[in-house]
Amino acid sequence: MPATASARKILEDLNPLNIAAQQFEIAADYLQLDAGLRETLRRPRRSIALTLPIKMDDGAIRVFDAYRVQHSNIRGPCKGGIRYHPNVTFDEMSALAALMTWKCALVDVPFGGAKGGIACDPKHLSRDELERLTRRYTYEIAALIGPDQDIPAPDVNTDAQTMAWIMDTYSMTTRHATPAVVTGKPTVLGGSLGGFEASARGCLFVLREAGKVAGVDLKTATVAIQGFGNVGSVMARLLWEEGARVIAVSDSKDGILNKQGIDIPALLRFKAATGSVEAFPGCSPIPSDEVLKVQCDILIPAALENQITIENAGYVRAKIVAEAANGPTTPEADLMLGRKEVMVLPDILANAGGVTVSYFEWLQDLQQLFWDEAEVNRRLEQVMVKAFHEVHDTTKKYGCDYRAAAYIVAIGRVAQAVIERGIWP
Ligand code: NAD
Repeated sequence: MPATASARKILEDLNPLNIAAQQFEIAADYLQLDAGLRETLRRPRRSIALTLPIKMDDGAIRVFDAYRVQHSNIRGPCKGGIRYHPNVTFDEMSALAALMTWKCALVDVPFGGAKGGIACDPKHLSRDELERLTRRYTYEIAALIGPDQDIPAPDVNTDAQTMAWIMDTYSMTTRHATPAVVTGKPTVLGGSLGGFEASARGCLFVLREAGKVAGVDLKTATVAIQGFGNVGSVMARLLWEEGARVIAVSDSKDGILNKQGIDIPALLRFKAATGSVEAFPGCSPIPSDEVLKVQCDILIPAALENQITIENAGYVRAKIVAEAANGPTTPEADLMLGRKEVMVLPDILANAGGVTVSYFEWLQDLQQLFWDEAEVNRRLEQVMVKAFHEVHDTTKKYGCDYRAAAYIVAIGRVAQAVIERGIWP
């Protein structure tokens, strides 16, 4: 292990479950929840760990670890993405499932939280291998998912094609087409217009409202974005369309900087052609992690968790950090950013546009009545603006930061639902 990594491990606990617990407890303290209610809310309702044997293209058999964690169905069916990544663990899935419960509650969509994943590196799997892995996984969890039970969606390294395979496999088990079992599908299978952009567009609405509070106008703001995938690349395009200057961008290998502003449409074409942002003309190369330290108005972590840590939080030079990714800031880093008076818009608020339009997709599938894109975006804007102002008002009421406020609103809503339903039997 490199010296910096081992030092960080000693200085900071990066276990996602412990981080989730810390964030939960802060809000639970503000809400003065009793011990039994805390325990009920904090722990996942149901979890499954699987081993998936898959026949590879060369005839060999490989076995993959996979999970689905359903954190809560108190306010409605469980909802949450499916991640394909070598670092997928049970703890990570459990933490992200709880995050989904709070996120759904914060934007007041009638879902609880879930998360699933397969520990694999999709870059080293063929399309056929990925399809077999996805179908095997779906078959194994088929009894636990469904439009009224648990509705998966895309996450890191999964996409509309993955959702189409899940929908098809699940539909084979029900013996009829069941589009509402997943969201983030291709539109031809019942996917929602605006769905692909939803997380980023929701983040844009939140940023616009936050900017009014922090004195940052999106039309003139400078922006740095870590991660140039589903969320980061759309975020870059939407901000570019607003007139903002995106001055730094990174993906897992490379970072690029142009203080005059990067030509985002050209960068999108370049990334599609080369698979990377590396060597994009007109930009200086910078180490990938330097993007977090660039002086700018808005920093958008849109890659993975635990990216802003005590090691680099002191170097963040942005007025606003908008967490498009889930869990990008560690609790210690959060405190450091707070001391520097950086406005941190927490993941459960900043990227809740994704689950909001997932809810719209599920509604449209159940009704078999589809909205145009303007309708989707209009309703999304309504939800995100309302959520931002509820959180903002809560910061004033409790004298706390935006993360604590978001958790107070969300956990308060789920706690109230538990109290109203009562504990069965
Ligand atoms: P993705 O796989 O499409 O993109 C991830 C990007 O991050 C890639 O460009 C990758 O190269 C880059 N990356 C990985 N490690 C990096 C590093 N150390 N430094 C810089 N870049 C790095 O994933 P995505 O769907 O865009 O998800 C990104 C984040 O947003 C995740 O935290 C995910 O949970 C969250 N999120 C996604 C959605 C969604 O709808 N896709 C919704 C809400 C939240």
